[in-house]
Amino acid sequence: MPDSLDYLVATHPRLFLTGRPSNSHLSPGWTALVDKLCTDIDQLVSDSEAQTFRVIQIKEKFGGLRFYFSLNEQRTIMLDAVNHGTRIRVEPENPSDQFNSISRLVKTAEATSAATCEVCGEAGRMRVLTGDFSISDKGFFTLNEDKIAQPLPNGWLKCLCEDHVHGAASAWAGHFNPEEDDDE
Ligand SMILES: [Zn+2]
Repeated sequence: MPDSLDYLVATHPRLFLTGRPSNSHLSPGWTALVDKLCTDIDQLVSDSEAQTFRVIQIKEKFGGLRFYFSLNEQRTIMLDAVNHGTRIRVEPENPSDQFNSISRLVKTAEATSAATCEVCGEAGRMRVLTGDFSISDKGFFTLNEDKIAQPLPNGWLKCLCEDHVHGAASAWAGHFNPEEDDDE
């Protein structure tokens, strides 16, 4: 059975001319969100622009979606600070209008993911898992075979709904409001 990312690649072939992006994972609860993002990008770009469009990487980081792309070899470089869960964005020099339009769509989707349970797609919020646990021993984490959770000094940050935070593991505790990304 294809996973969420395979579904995405098959559904939007014009945006994935080189196939599945490497080192990528799409959480099941965000499939509809990223599917819509790709539909919006697909409608925005011309055929010739689509030839230069690349999805570089899709993943989860600090509980939120990350969608990295390039257009005509322009790309935003983003660094995730491990200690704080904050991001540093380095925009390309003289980005084209089209690059900026796509970038706005991506930022909106990434912001939405931070309030969307990555397991089921229902409304969620950021939680931090503390204590000892094994990813493979938890039902929730077995949905994600890749190492998508990211370590923070005090635990693992994930965006989950009430159902999935309680079903995930007894070690889940409390909630966490990450510092705002410096996206704007
Ligand atoms: Zn959920």
